[in-house]
Amino acid sequence: MTSNGDQQPKPVEAPRRRVGRLVVLAGPTAVGKGTMSAYVRTHFPGVWFSVSMTTRPPRPGEVDGVHYHFVDDQEFDRLALAGEFLEHAVVHGAAKYGTPRGPVERAIREGRDALLEIDLQGARQVRDSWPDALFVFLAPPSWEELVRRLVGRGTEDESERERRLATARTEMAAQSEFDEVIVNDDVRRASEELVSLMRSGSADV
Ligand code: 5GP
Repeated sequence: MTSNGDQQPKPVEAPRRRVGRLVVLAGPTAVGKGTMSAYVRTHFPGVWFSVSMTTRPPRPGEVDGVHYHFVDDQEFDRLALAGEFLEHAVVHGAAKYGTPRGPVERAIREGRDALLEIDLQGARQVRDSWPDALFVFLAPPSWEELVRRLVGRGTEDESERERRLATARTEMAAQSEFDEVIVNDDVRRASEELVSLMRSGSADV
């Protein structure tokens, strides 16, 4: 019988390795995903952000490789066909958007918490391929407030606003598919809630 008195060497425990958490943040147009991402970037530098690819042209101030990787339609389709995206979709019936797979997998392997800021179609695709991810829906305090924010930012013309609000209606109806809903009533409070959710889900293996 083995007992303390036997002077048997104790089994060596493998060092614990922290595995990062994949968090998918979705929500309707103008709810403040961009502002919240900027807040998290500044105040929580440990969070790793996926940089999406898109076929839409850059807006003033957007930097290739930082806000998005801007590519043409042909390059996007080539990457999609080669299986290089974790998910991809046509958003607002206009441009194509996709999450490059390699960098996300690397970040998670390296133990970083990774944040994807994508649309509902993309979130559904990730749920199929990465069910362990945490799915967070960012909601406006009310529908009226969402419309007010969209009109107020003034970056879309009337027809583009209508198109985005139509998508937003569908997205708002899908809230119950998500693990968590954060109401963006205050960017600081909502960002802190998001980061604390990310942290609570990280695991040691
Ligand atoms: P915007 O053109 O205003 O930057 O983004 C439009 C929409 O595309 C937003 O709802 C944003 O979350 C979504 N989006 C951004 N990157 C991706 C992505 O990689 N995949 C998907 N499915 N949607 C994305």
